[in-house]
Amino acid sequence: MVFYTPGRTTSYPTKSVESGIRFHFLGGAQEVGNVACVIEDNTQTRILIDYGLSPGDPPTYPQECPPIDAAIITHAHLDHIGMVPWITASHNVPLHATHLTAALADMMWQDTYKISKIEGYPLPWDRRDIEDSDDVWETHSFGETQKLGEWNWQLLQAGHVPGAAMIHIETPTKSILWSGDIDTRDTPNVTGAKPIKSDILVLEGTYGGREHPNRNEEEMRFVNKVKEVVNRGGLAIVPAFASGRGQDILRILHQHAPHLDVHYDGMGKRVTRHWMNHPEFIHNAHEWDKIWSWVRKVGSKSDRKKVLSADVIVTTSGMLKGGPVLWYLNRVRDDPNSAVLITGYQAEDTGGKMLLEIGKIPIYGDIVEIQCEVDKFQLSNHAGHSALVDFAKKTEAKDVILFHLPDESIEPLKKAIEENGQQVHIPENGQTFTIK
Ligand SMILES: [Zn+2]
Repeated sequence: MVFYTPGRTTSYPTKSVESGIRFHFLGGAQEVGNVACVIEDNTQTRILIDYGLSPGDPPTYPQECPPIDAAIITHAHLDHIGMVPWITASHNVPLHATHLTAALADMMWQDTYKISKIEGYPLPWDRRDIEDSDDVWETHSFGETQKLGEWNWQLLQAGHVPGAAMIHIETPTKSILWSGDIDTRDTPNVTGAKPIKSDILVLEGTYGGREHPNRNEEEMRFVNKVKEVVNRGGLAIVPAFASGRGQDILRILHQHAPHLDVHYDGMGKRVTRHWMNHPEFIHNAHEWDKIWSWVRKVGSKSDRKKVLSADVIVTTSGMLKGGPVLWYLNRVRDDPNSAVLITGYQAEDTGGKMLLEIGKIPIYGDIVEIQCEVDKFQLSNHAGHSALVDFAKKTEAKDVILFHLPDESIEPLKKAIEENGQQVHIPENGQTFTIK
């Protein structure tokens, strides 16, 4: 656990940059989550990109951030945004993001604060810091050029989730492309990221060394499984992340099985309303009016009881660690006709991981056996291995810095990108390195 003492515990060097671009990862190097990186050059412009939190048990945080000129936030997932209120409390600088990311941030922070109180883990920021952070957003559309000292920069479409951005920076000497979390494919709610030419690419590698199944085939395998469960009289429980996956699932079901009785519960409802207020970030946004009137929103306890005789419930949490999903699962856990259809990555120490491994799950303090069918579908919103390598190649970057990746992804991704003729760097948290 990191407890911050501002100005006392940062690993950031005091010496200024003489030449080149200095990168200093405070978190997110050789790990997935906790993303935070300081970038500085000899014009003394110094920015922070992302300041995340990994909601494990206990949660982990990046190292302390030194004073900066501004923070740019790629997207509103907790592992990129969770510690931003600390930045506001300590450095009170502008926070830059797309309009949609800024709109979602407050909800993510409020929810994190609430969970920290319930689970009794310390957070180095409080409710007032959320309010202060809400006041310092500077929001942007994709492709709008901004100035910061002698740097020009802009946010670009990252795929991944609506509003998620890559960051393209032009310093007087080098151009930098920061990928954020990317998906180069068009997925149900967002169009894919496009590479642009840069001198330095900072690339996420979540799926380095791993390929995704064909996206359309996997979507149809999911739809067919849902229909099978419904036809045998079961309830299909679809645990899905609030921001991205749940809405993908709704769009897939609306397109391929509109006759089903589909219900939607949890924080994703509020996220979707923000999406609908920012249609410029959504692929074919107009379809959401139809999807929203088709799907049945669950708003009360009595609604929940009705869902037990419906066809499908899409709800949080995506990793079965808290959230309404546990209420539903508890009610149908002895029914072999019902099914839990897992649609995303399951971290260690989560109910979803335990369910996949041993068919049991902690619900309200007890470890219970689940008689329902359990199946898993790969509907990721991250680029797979070949797509990452191809993306790197098309940026023509001489230097590629890999971050946001698990240990087993490092070697295969490094090797493949080196075969493009590009130099690959694997940074370490808390260590400075400069690209000249
Ligand atoms: Zn993300």
